[in-house]
Amino acid sequence: MDLSIVIPAYNERESLPVLLQEICQVMQGLNLAFEVIVVDDGSSDGTFELLEQLKPQMPWLRAISFRRNYGKSAALSEGFKIARGAVVITMDADLQDDPKEIPNLLKKLDEGYDLVSGWKKRRHDPLNKVIPSRIFNFVTARVTGIPLHDFNCGLKAYRRDVIKSIHVYGELHRFLPVLAQWQGFRVGEIPVRHRPRKYGRTKFGVSRFFNGFFDLITVLFITRYKTSPLHIFGMFGLLSFLLGFTTELYLTILWFMGHSIRNRPLFFLGILLIIVGVQFIVFGLIGEMISAGFAEKTEYSIKKKLD
Ligand code: UDP
Ligand code: MG
Repeated sequence: MDLSIVIPAYNERESLPVLLQEICQVMQGLNLAFEVIVVDDGSSDGTFELLEQLKPQMPWLRAISFRRNYGKSAALSEGFKIARGAVVITMDADLQDDPKEIPNLLKKLDEGYDLVSGWKKRRHDPLNKVIPSRIFNFVTARVTGIPLHDFNCGLKAYRRDVIKSIHVYGELHRFLPVLAQWQGFRVGEIPVRHRPRKYGRTKFGVSRFFNGFFDLITVLFITRYKTSPLHIFGMFGLLSFLLGFTTELYLTILWFMGHSIRNRPLFFLGILLIIVGVQFIVFGLIGEMISAGFAEKTEYSIKKKLD
């Protein structure tokens, strides 16, 4: 099997037949052994029944159906588990991603990349989605040091190794390039055509923005700081402690000079900073003890072996 196309779908009954047709057309020109895996994420609009109807005409179609709605990450994760292709491409079910980009993604992979992400350069989404997304992408690129323009594009291509070594859960699908790059995979990007949503409606509200940032913190913790929690907690702790200590030192000098300091707000702020600082450092140390306990289970991404 050369290629698996994984499509998470939550109530996308109108879009799927068109999308599958489009994929079929593109694949006819490519001469690859392929399969399409639609993961029905607990749809209530008969998405799975539709797939059952389509199956006889589409032998390459596979599908799983969740008993309830678990979210896009869960759908991708299950799709990855059963994918058999040497390359796995993901795309949204809502026709916003264009299957015509498949050859371009494959070409970029051939340049030596392990993950190629789409970049919706000209987006066809409402402004209340585009602007938060811009901010999110900017911050994520800065914080992670990965120079992508569009982390959350549904259209991505992965080499098999990548999907077998990263774990997607929660809502971490937005950070697949980050998780991959952290394991040493080469991550690239190409601009892709994006289309407006024709049928159905978006499944994510404004909560996506806040959740995205919480998830960014999570991702930093489970990648960069997982095995060295004191590096992050200790830094904040030390900063807070030193600030508080300097404040109190200054007030102590004033006190020796005969000033009254008990009623000064700065006095309390200093104490607060010292306490918070010590707490942060202790959190970091506890984190270190926890990660020491898991040291044997830490997974390292191995590229090649010679026996
Ligand atoms: N999706 C899913 N489960 C969910 C939410 C979304 O499988 O709980 C799928 C959805 O059917 C679509 C893709 O994830 O194929 C992207 O969703 P959507 O188009 O709503 O996201 P947006 O384009 O607004 O970012
Ligand atoms: Mg969409």
